[in-house]
Amino acid sequence: MSGLVAGFALVQGAVPTSLILRGVWPMLIITGVAVFIAALLAIREPPLDADIARRIGMTGMIPAMVLTVFTGGLQSPGVVLVALCALAISVPHGPGMALVGSLAAMTTLLGMEALLTKKIIWAPSFLAMTVLVSTAVIPRWLATRMRRQVEVAERRALQVEELAQRGRVGPPAIERPEIVGSPRMQDPAGSPVITYLRMLRDNVGADDAVVWRPRADEPGVLVAWAWSGDDTNGPVSFRKEEWLPLVAWAAENGNVNFDGSGGMPSLAAIAIPPRIGALAGGALSVSHRSGLRQDRDELKRWLPRHADHLADMLALVESGDEVARQNATTLALLQAATDFQKSRSIETLGAEICQSALDVTGAAHAALVRWNADSRKGEVQATSPTAPVRVGLVVTDDSAVGGSCREATPLTWEDARELSRLAVVYGRAEPRRSVSSLGVVPLVRPEGVVGAIVVEGDDINRVRGESVRALRLLGAIAAVSLESQFEYEEIERRARTDVLTGLSNRRYFEEQIERLLDECDRYGGPVSLVVADLDHFKKVNDTYGHDVGDSVLQYVAKAFKDGVRTVDIVTRYGGEEIACLLPQTDLAGAKEFAERMRKAIETRPVQAKSHAIPVTCSLGVATYGGAVPIPRAELFSLADKALYRSKQQGRNRVNAHDASESGSTT
Ligand code: GH3
Ligand code: MG
Ligand code: MG
Repeated sequence: MSGLVAGFALVQGAVPTSLILRGVWPMLIITGVAVFIAALLAIREPPLDADIARRIGMTGMIPAMVLTVFTGGLQSPGVVLVALCALAISVPHGPGMALVGSLAAMTTLLGMEALLTKKIIWAPSFLAMTVLVSTAVIPRWLATRMRRQVEVAERRALQVEELAQRGRVGPPAIERPEIVGSPRMQDPAGSPVITYLRMLRDNVGADDAVVWRPRADEPGVLVAWAWSGDDTNGPVSFRKEEWLPLVAWAAENGNVNFDGSGGMPSLAAIAIPPRIGALAGGALSVSHRSGLRQDRDELKRWLPRHADHLADMLALVESGDEVARQNATTLALLQAATDFQKSRSIETLGAEICQSALDVTGAAHAALVRWNADSRKGEVQATSPTAPVRVGLVVTDDSAVGGSCREATPLTWEDARELSRLAVVYGRAEPRRSVSSLGVVPLVRPEGVVGAIVVEGDDINRVRGESVRALRLLGAIAAVSLESQFEYEEIERRARTDVLTGLSNRRYFEEQIERLLDECDRYGGPVSLVVADLDHFKKVNDTYGHDVGDSVLQYVAKAFKDGVRTVDIVTRYGGEEIACLLPQTDLAGAKEFAERMRKAIETRPVQAKSHAIPVTCSLGVATYGGAVPIPRAELFSLADKALYRSKQQGRNRVNAHDASESGSTT
């Protein structure tokens, strides 16, 4: 140590006096500049990276001290460098530590000075001390105070904003619960999100359906944001400790997460996808302590839809600028979001979408179009009551609506007169007419465009760009509901259709016969049943092969399908047996129909694989609620018995169950 001190003394002696800035004034000026720089560094936003600052301070401290000792000790401006290093070290620890640090540096310098000069020079020591403390501590202290004041001001501004929000008329204000475990219920009256969650809860047989959202000030923490239960303390049956990590995990990775072994999980959670203009999404959970009603596959299939739907609703609730300004529009949209999900058929959903489109845009007419992206064709699915187009109109891709669907781009013509002169709005089959203003919003799903909402105004500028923007939000909601509905109806259709012939199947027949007989009991009027069985069909199979047999079946099925009215129900009842239910048809009418079908099949041989195959069938007819009373449970067996008689009498004929138990008309 003494060697080191001797070395310092030697070097200090060797530095020419002219190089050392001595005296009070230069020292004060340099200190002023240093304090200024230090203050700038301390209040810098964003703050200096604490780690880097400390490393610079640590690295610089020893050389700064050595330099100070070499260049005049406590009287050297190097003291300022030491102070800056102390400040850098103290950045992460606050002014208290900065004071301790600079005092330590000071003591070290003082000690070195005393060792070198064997005395303490008090005046320069005090001066150096002032320099150190003012450079290292004061800026840090000032910065801390300033930050605190800014925080207080920000918090106040937030409170003011919150109060202003509550005062606003519009969608129900939703207070965010503060911490997990003690969230406060938002105003439950009429909140569409809660209504939706209740519906979802009942759908899947859950105790709780909950929307979880990241906490505003701490995005890593999820809080219950809305829930289906009435308890204001939150989702009471939700097992927080076990399930919340699974919910958080789902929110992070976007999978559907489950808890519980066996087929029916006790918890299912899925991320709510984020939407542009809304806060980060969060997660949706449905849970039941002893197991949900739906299995994993069903939940995997349906939960993403619900999450999508909720994402749209949340985006709406939060869309402060564009939509909240128009409270009526927002409410109409929120209402639509709830109504759409309740719709049980394409017809009611279509009518609701059209009505909501009118509510949102103030247009005169609206139509919902279904679009098939593969065939680039569509069809008008529903219209508002006064719309100038009819349901079923084919939408072609050279029309305005077709173009919007093809390109997946919303279009607005505030003045559509020129457009309607040059092109059709929907499709080629549409009568030419003049349109004043027009808006088209394609309904886009990840798989492509599934349809479009079209609005027409009776005047120029009646449909405007802004209202079409609101319509896009409606479109987002409608697209999810519509896709679910399409899929649901497709599943239903498949479940009641026979694959080979495309006729309805026996299950559907059983349902419909009950319905028709009920109607008959309630309102009166007859229902007839015609059953037909192909003659010697085994022979067809044996002679020409099963494939040809199938073609014959398809041909006969089509003949029956083409021969009935739209209200009649044609079913493939068994292998080559066809049953036709004819509502409001008496025995005479049914016999006439049966005879017509018999002849139609007899006179046209089936063409299959270059064979012309003659086919005939035998038929039996019975009527419920007609002149001859029969028990309702026997309608089918009596028609079948009549059919049997036709077979017995030599086939290719019609028999009916009537008063005389005969009535053959060959
Ligand atoms: P009958 O005049 O007495 O009715 O004589 P049939 O040969 O038609 O006798 P039946 O009604 O008992 O025979 C039904 C035959 O229909 C038996 C079976 O091979 C055939 N069949 C049933 N379903 C199908 C099918 O899906 N495709 C084909 N190719 N044949 C079928
Ligand atoms: Mg048969
Ligand atoms: Mg047969």
